[in-house]
Amino acid sequence: MASDVGRPEELRIGVFVCECGLNIAGTIDCDAVSKYAETLDDVTVVVQNKYTCADPGQNEIKKAIAEYNLNRVVVASCTPKIHEPTFRECVADAGMNPYLFEMVNIREHCSWVHQNQKEEATEKAKDLVRSGVARARFLEPQIEAEVPVTKAALVIGGGVTGIQAALDLADGGHQVYLVEKEATLGGIMAALDKTYPTMDCSI
Ligand code: SF4
Repeated sequence: MASDVGRPEELRIGVFVCECGLNIAGTIDCDAVSKYAETLDDVTVVVQNKYTCADPGQNEIKKAIAEYNLNRVVVASCTPKIHEPTFRECVADAGMNPYLFEMVNIREHCSWVHQNQKEEATEKAKDLVRSGVARARFLEPQIEAEVPVTKAALVIGGGVTGIQAALDLADGGHQVYLVEKEATLGGIMAALDKTYPTMDCSI
């Protein structure tokens, strides 16, 4: 059971289960996952969509936020790499702090890698949703701020890695300070006579 420390007074979590056409629903029993999500503490509403990232899916999220006064949203769909910004924007449009959103990957982490194990994949999807809801309980609203930064970098160690890092940073427009404790640069590489496969001098 989750601790009450840091939790707001009343949690109202909406869970949105995406089928992604057959990408998810072809392997995972999404109805069973949705039914399971309904049994979780603090879950107020569960909605299942064919394509949650499409406009109708996003509208369902906005509608549920308003209708059920949700203060947390969990979307069980694909990798956050693609659609986390989409859903953050979606919940923000509905007036919710975008950092009160949690995403669970039941596609790349589940349906796609367990295509021949439908029952186990469904159970794993339930576990992932339960984990996402657990994380959502502890989310805090965040604000985005811009702060001035000095575009400079310190690289410690003038071996090959340090030299390359310094060059890459410089190419990126940063002032670079490269620090090496020895009198010369090159590190271990400088101690080698020849290097494979060209057998050139190492430096
Ligand atoms: S949110 Fe992700 S999993 Fe769902 S339809 Fe869009 S791409 Fe597919």
